[in-house]
Amino acid sequence: MVSPALPPDSSDKPLVGVLALQGDYAAHAAMMARCGAATAEVRASRDLQGLDALVLPGGESTAMLRLMDEALWQGLHSKISAGLPVLATCAGTILLADCVINPAQRSLKLLHVTVERNGFGRQRDSFITTQLDWSGIVTASTAQGLPLQNQEGVFIRAPRIVSHAPSVKVLARWRGEPVLVQEGTIVAATFHPELSHGPSPLHRWFLGQLRTGEDAVEQVAMGAKLCSDSIHASGN
Ligand code: GLN
Repeated sequence: MVSPALPPDSSDKPLVGVLALQGDYAAHAAMMARCGAATAEVRASRDLQGLDALVLPGGESTAMLRLMDEALWQGLHSKISAGLPVLATCAGTILLADCVINPAQRSLKLLHVTVERNGFGRQRDSFITTQLDWSGIVTASTAQGLPLQNQEGVFIRAPRIVSHAPSVKVLARWRGEPVLVQEGTIVAATFHPELSHGPSPLHRWFLGQLRTGEDAVEQVAMGAKLCSDSIHASGN
């Protein structure tokens, strides 16, 4: 069953917290707002109250670890373990990983992957590709509602997912390697959808998933509608 799409200015907009210690959190917040969500910056554990979802942005995971106090660390752990939906990108994926290598560092261990930091090389090896393979997520029916396959991959000192547990579903690949995964309520990318030109289909899809009850396909299409309405309303 599908509930009616929310008008862009409804107070029923999902509230998405964006970890705002370091990195490209402002780009994520702007993209979420563009796709119809309300956003709030998260800098302390008290900021985790009342959120419908959370973004862990890209940046420098070591810097984020240094800037995070223990209360925020524990708060993130307990909220995400309890099922708060998360969209993590790049450094955010490193924070969530079960195991981090090159070098090893502290992590929340909530996403059962091993990530190698800077696994595609250093800054000069960063790249943008339109050759992502979305077959893990785009079926004939979802493709119609949402052009995820148009999402480009912006890889900046990106981590590499070198292994993952069977509970981790690979949603997208680049040259056969996982670059977007999902485990329970966690969606994690090694690239930066928030830096793409135009509205990010992945952000739309994530917001559509927040409304997912039974009918994922319809809800994904509704997420797209929510976003396009909001873009229309803002004149973009
Ligand atoms: N290399 C960074 C790290 O290890 C991640 C890069 C990014 O988020 N773009 O944290």
